[in-house]
Amino acid sequence: RMMTDWKPDSPLMDVNKAAGRTPVSVPPELYFIIERSTRVSELTEGAFDITFAGAGKLWNWRAPDPVVPDPATVKASLENVGWKGVVLDAAKRTVFLSTPGMRIGLGAVAPGYAGDLAMEKIRARGIRDACVNLSGDVLVIGRKAGAPWNVGITHPRKKGESIAVLPVSNAAVSTSGDYERYFEKDGRRYCHIIDPRTGYPAAGCQSVTIVAPNLAFADALATGVFVLGPEKGMALVERLEGVQALIVAADGTLTVSRGLKR
Ligand code: ADP
Ligand code: MG
Repeated sequence: RMMTDWKPDSPLMDVNKAAGRTPVSVPPELYFIIERSTRVSELTEGAFDITFAGAGKLWNWRAPDPVVPDPATVKASLENVGWKGVVLDAAKRTVFLSTPGMRIGLGAVAPGYAGDLAMEKIRARGIRDACVNLSGDVLVIGRKAGAPWNVGITHPRKKGESIAVLPVSNAAVSTSGDYERYFEKDGRRYCHIIDPRTGYPAAGCQSVTIVAPNLAFADALATGVFVLGPEKGMALVERLEGVQALIVAADGTLTVSRGLKR
């Protein structure tokens, strides 16, 4: 309810509605996740960007007969995209979007954050072994019947099959793919992850799985690496401490980070 942009009224939508006009004071959780998001933008050189929504609003994947927006409109929408346009004031806990057409959408990070908060509640009850599964976003602590948890990674082109199974103990595993929400037109696939540099759906990967210490970060990074594509994305992952990745490129090639090979 706090972070949705699928409904007209939410604290997040208050920020969007005031775009280009005035800073809006937001609840602590919303401030926290927006602030974290801008850090992931920095890390991914803008590939992960919650202001993608300025361009994303042109694409309607849920329509019965989706249309590809006209190129000039896509290009024009880019003036409303750019994480540096999100102005944060930590003391006042306000968020300001610097152009009237700017929008933020938290679809790539709010689910992961919700998972982290759920796990906090579980831990607070003294439970040591648990799994929070938001389908595609998984967080586990401890063990399952004395062994590591096994997290299956969906095969991006074979429904119902796993492409890999990861044994994990205290970790978050998040997958972003082009196979859940997309449409096809003239032989091209248009998925729901937008490249903020072009305004068009990213096309370098079929799926990206990130293993990281917390789910909000894993969720955001999976989306960012998806946009960066297999080479740049894997190079970034290899530079990060405590982060692993499994990437299926657009041509189906599977690559895994060094730590996962073991
Ligand atoms: P899934 O929903 O399959 O778990 P993601 O975690 O990658 O996949 O989230 C996809 C959602 O992220 C999109 O529906 C959209 O709301 C949002 N999004 C799309 N492109 C970007 C981007 N470049 N940066 C941040 N969020 C994005
Ligand atoms: Mg994500």
